[in-house]
Amino acid sequence: MLDERMLWTAVTTRDPKWDGMFVYGVASTRIFCRPTCPSRRPRRAGVRFFATPESASEAGFRACRRCRPSDLASAEPAIARVRRACEIIARRSGRAVSLAALARQVGGSPYHLQRTFRTLLGVSPREYAETCRLGYLRAELRNGDGVSAAVYGAGYGSSSRVYEKSARTLGMTPATYARGGAGEHVHFVITPSPLGQMLVAATPRGVCRVKLGDDAAALERELRAEYPAAQVAPGDDRLSAWIARIVDFVKGESPDPRLPLDVRATAFQWRVWRELQKIPRGMTRSYAEIAARIGAPTAARAVARACAANPVALLIPCHRVVQTGGGLGGYHWGVERKRALLAGERGTLA
Ligand SMILES: [Zn+2]
Repeated sequence: MLDERMLWTAVTTRDPKWDGMFVYGVASTRIFCRPTCPSRRPRRAGVRFFATPESASEAGFRACRRCRPSDLASAEPAIARVRRACEIIARRSGRAVSLAALARQVGGSPYHLQRTFRTLLGVSPREYAETCRLGYLRAELRNGDGVSAAVYGAGYGSSSRVYEKSARTLGMTPATYARGGAGEHVHFVITPSPLGQMLVAATPRGVCRVKLGDDAAALERELRAEYPAAQVAPGDDRLSAWIARIVDFVKGESPDPRLPLDVRATAFQWRVWRELQKIPRGMTRSYAEIAARIGAPTAARAVARACAANPVALLIPCHRVVQTGGGLGGYHWGVERKRALLAGERGTLA
């Protein structure tokens, strides 16, 4: 269930964002610690990982006196209710469930459920259900890690105390993002565009990647590396039509191409990306503005990270997000491309 390589990296780097998400036990000392414990790093071979302090204790480990991992309180009732609600929604992915029905099943009033849900996860139960429904968490839900992944994603990057608290008390297992795309068919087309080589890849459900670069072969290699277990093959007619629409858009000859997307996101990324899609052509917003618009005003840096993680250049217009004060900010596909895109969009406004 736990991706041990990720956890081990968290231990070796004492990464604070994993604090409260798991503990590790050391076989030689029979002591268990938080990932952030200041004590000397153990050797990998003697380390075991546990989702909760309780499970480490049950396995015969004692709590470290320096980092006090047992102080990670077990879930409070309100938080436990939110977790149960997430599980119910996840199990029902694809089918609607009303707030009243959810509240009946987990206890408490619909009003309080709505409020704690939003406070902890940053989205309402309905938005969370929407994320599930749209299949963005498909793979994670299949292997049972979806709830945690979404929870982790929703709280990620926020500096509010509530999030810090929720990260500690939700008892989350780390997000093990299903990777590899086993059993998936991915088609792709690469074509020259005013922004250099453009790769568009799609599953049967929609566009999953739009990449820009100078080297077509490198773009294809990158795509194959991202879907190592999928069947990746050169594209079909549908894709050729889609990429033509995207190129026309880049040339300023057609409006934003509204193509179906098949992208996987955490709940937080989903909120950011959806907000980006509301920015009209020729306009820009700052990272801070996007953060404020999604109701997470302190999360500008997390917004920037979500922009950088956008898998479909142009279709989710992360190029329209700039720094406060007008600096261009970064662009996964190169700042020069961002500059050219924005100049082109302003030019075709009139
Ligand atoms: Zn310790």
